[in-house]
Amino acid sequence: MSSLVLSVEELTVRYFTRRGVVYAVENVSFSASQRDFVALVGESGSGKSTLGYALLKLVPPPGRILGKRVVIDGVDILKLEGEELRRARGSLISMVFQDPFATLDPVRRVGDQIAEVMVEHGVALEEARKRVAELLEAVNLPAHIASSYPHQLSGGQRQRVSIAAAIALNPKVLVADEPTTALDVIVQRQIMDLLDDIRRRTNMVVLLITHDIALASERASKIAVMYAGRIVEYGSKSDVIEKPLHPYTRGLLSSVPDIERAEWPRPIPGLPPDLRSPQRGCAFKPRCPHAMEVCDKLPPLLDVGGGHFVSCWLYSS
Ligand code: ATP
Ligand code: SF4
Ligand code: MG
Repeated sequence: MSSLVLSVEELTVRYFTRRGVVYAVENVSFSASQRDFVALVGESGSGKSTLGYALLKLVPPPGRILGKRVVIDGVDILKLEGEELRRARGSLISMVFQDPFATLDPVRRVGDQIAEVMVEHGVALEEARKRVAELLEAVNLPAHIASSYPHQLSGGQRQRVSIAAAIALNPKVLVADEPTTALDVIVQRQIMDLLDDIRRRTNMVVLLITHDIALASERASKIAVMYAGRIVEYGSKSDVIEKPLHPYTRGLLSSVPDIERAEWPRPIPGLPPDLRSPQRGCAFKPRCPHAMEVCDKLPPLLDVGGGHFVSCWLYSS
């Protein structure tokens, strides 16, 4: 049995903007064990990135984390401040973003940037430089790339560099927020292979944030489906993809073109709700073909068996 690494308990994040409160993440709980590849899927604006940032206690203002716990390897990240928090970012959890340009400094050589991550965490410069070569090898880049500047690299190479920096301190959890959205399909596949390979070799938990349920179902061992700031279904890939229960998950799966069965995609009608008002009942109700009166109340997230969780009144009484 692999051991529990990440435990998120009743996590809530809201943005207190001048135009009102955005209820971005509401009462989210889930857990992941060593080597889990968890995909967090949902439409744009469902709160995926906000949840990812909150795991590093990195939500930008006017966002505020309101509770409750994000425990990684026994440490509650939300309780950490200052130096302790800085150390946890990198050594317990780190993040890879959609646009590596946003995280890489354009005027510094990439090798120095990877080394700096380690030096900032107390690794001696010489040791850090040696490790840069190992890290570049781990992300399938030649050692001479270390002396390049970000603009001299392709999009795929830059993303590999940011992955090398993110895994430099062997974190327990790696959050990858749409890491391949800006890349072409072949490079996208290579980066996914790389994340999978790193997970296997290091026992890291990989949390892949994506709007693409087809991509999620190729790699993930577990899938969390997010709608309007809440997880509405969570479980093993085989449960969520082959036996989806939530009408939203079913809708997402039917909106993917199926070439083998020559089926046309059927997009989910309607739009996600505006998160600037609190959701009183099931947020999917206006788009749901099975909506009932009881759906005006918030359905609990229940384990329907074997760790397959769903939040829908069709499965609760
Ligand atoms: P996407 O797939 O488009 O990246 P997402 O699922 O990652 O979307 P988030 O970016 O987490 O969603 O946004 C969740 C909600 O929080 C949205 O309603 C968004 O408008 C709002 N939001 C995100 N960042 C901020 C911010 N800095 N200030 C105010 N509201 C924000
Ligand atoms: Fe549809 Fe009701 Fe289930 Fe929501 S709780 S998904 S509205 S059946
Ligand atoms: Mg996002």
